[in-house]
Amino acid sequence: MHEGPMAQPVFIDTHAHLDAAAFDADRHAMHLRARAAGVSTCVIPAVTAANFDTVRVLAHAQHDAYALGIHPLYALDASEDDVLQLDVALHTYRHDPRLVAVGEIGLDGFVPELNTPAALAQQQRLYKVQLRLAQQHQLPVILHVRRSADRLLKGLRDTPVVGGIAHAFNGSLQQAQAFIALGFKLGFGGALTYARALQLRRLATELPLSALVLETDAPDIPPHWLYATAEQRAAGQPQGRNEPAELPRVAQVLAELRGIPLDVLAAATSANARQALPRLQ
Ligand SMILES: [Zn+2]
Repeated sequence: MHEGPMAQPVFIDTHAHLDAAAFDADRHAMHLRARAAGVSTCVIPAVTAANFDTVRVLAHAQHDAYALGIHPLYALDASEDDVLQLDVALHTYRHDPRLVAVGEIGLDGFVPELNTPAALAQQQRLYKVQLRLAQQHQLPVILHVRRSADRLLKGLRDTPVVGGIAHAFNGSLQQAQAFIALGFKLGFGGALTYARALQLRRLATELPLSALVLETDAPDIPPHWLYATAEQRAAGQPQGRNEPAELPRVAQVLAELRGIPLDVLAAATSANARQALPRLQ
């Protein structure tokens, strides 16, 4: 009797900034490591109009997916022309199956320079106009949520979109449920690998499996096994670089927290990602 090898679980990294300079030296090797680890697809979100072409070309070269949008951290630099470029790109590439969302958009309530009254107003304007574009182009959105969940939810109620992903989610259970009610999935990644992240771990365990998608946010949010402490950094060690190949190990932590097999988590979160971003193959 012949038994084949166990099928390797397949994962989707729903948020990876693979165009980042941190990958310039070994981008292709990083891509191959991801595939070898079972990460079948990465979603590469743009952050400014200046990298719209880069993320699109990279997604095609690597058989990944991409999103187009202006990140709130770039809100102060964004002009009317950038918004126009977004509209044009969403129109030009509307039949591109690798264009899966408007993103990364949202609101940042953490960075001090972005939380002056004028900067907040600019963030809100940019968020609102991008929600309208997502609405017009019938695309889901990938949201940056940092101390901004309630304001993001209000924006979604004012300007409803077809759904999407609240990326690197770290809000309350109530806020999570509000996103879910609006057709969103919640992105979890390296942050939940820290034993001290009690609230986040509880959230990732208590939410229905149908609400979760996986992400690395590479090159950021290193899991604990890559994290360099302040002491190590003071001694000259650089902060660990995250990459999509880490996703299965992050998923293993989540599977253990939830008490389910890894392959069940992989299958469910991949299906959830396709539900949130229907153009994902
Ligand atoms: Zn991001």
